[in-house]
Amino acid sequence: MIPLTRGIYFCSMAINKENYSKISAELESRNITLVAVSKTKPASDILDLYNLGHRDFGENYVQELQEKQEELPKDIKWHFIGHLQSNKIKYIAPFVYLIHGIDSFKLLKEVDKQAKKIDRNINVLLQVHIAQEETKFGLDETELDEIVNSPELPGLKNVNIQGLMGMASFTEDKEKVRNEFRYLKSLFDKYAQLQTTNYKVQTLSMGMSADYPIAIEEGTTLVRIGSLIFGERAHN
Ligand SMILES: *Cc1c(COP(=O)(O)O)cnc(C)c1O
Repeated sequence: MIPLTRGIYFCSMAINKENYSKISAELESRNITLVAVSKTKPASDILDLYNLGHRDFGENYVQELQEKQEELPKDIKWHFIGHLQSNKIKYIAPFVYLIHGIDSFKLLKEVDKQAKKIDRNINVLLQVHIAQEETKFGLDETELDEIVNSPELPGLKNVNIQGLMGMASFTEDKEKVRNEFRYLKSLFDKYAQLQTTNYKVQTLSMGMSADYPIAIEEGTTLVRIGSLIFGERAHN
């Protein structure tokens, strides 16, 4: 394993406490969860934020998440927000708090299988493709319908579908971003009406550093913010 002091974790800066207090106060007053996205940042930065009382952190690489989880306090709620490969689920299954990026029924079944092996229940969000960019991952409405209406779903007893996640287009066009969020919120409202034992839609993960104010206006319940808190990243 790569030690955290080497390799890609080169862009450590002090965390931006001013931004953090401002953003967390704003979100708290609206009951919105703040996931601090710590990808590429060293464990020491995470610990700084932890010591201010923060517990929800987001990572998007399995190995990096595993290393940080081993090193850092065990009451951190780790959100996996990246693209998850089936063969890597087992590495995060024992501790992950919420997997945001379920983008196929196959992956959902794999998470259930790995969770069952260790007798855990894993909370997940279904990722919806709302951006125009082809490169972004996610399900369309037809695929969402297929999953929630699947006769196999009630048999997946070790996963809880807790909500939806989406990423808006990377663009200066705020109206476009707003429309994409609005569409995601409409899907969230639609699926929130249906409930079964392993399916209870209550979390809407949308909004990042550049677009979270729009996400708030459009009804987000959870935002994923990295650079405004931890500083710019050198990559991804
Ligand atoms: C990196 C990342 C974020 C945070 O991005 P910032 O622009 O730094 O706030 C949020 N969500 C996902 C899925 C990411 O990969």
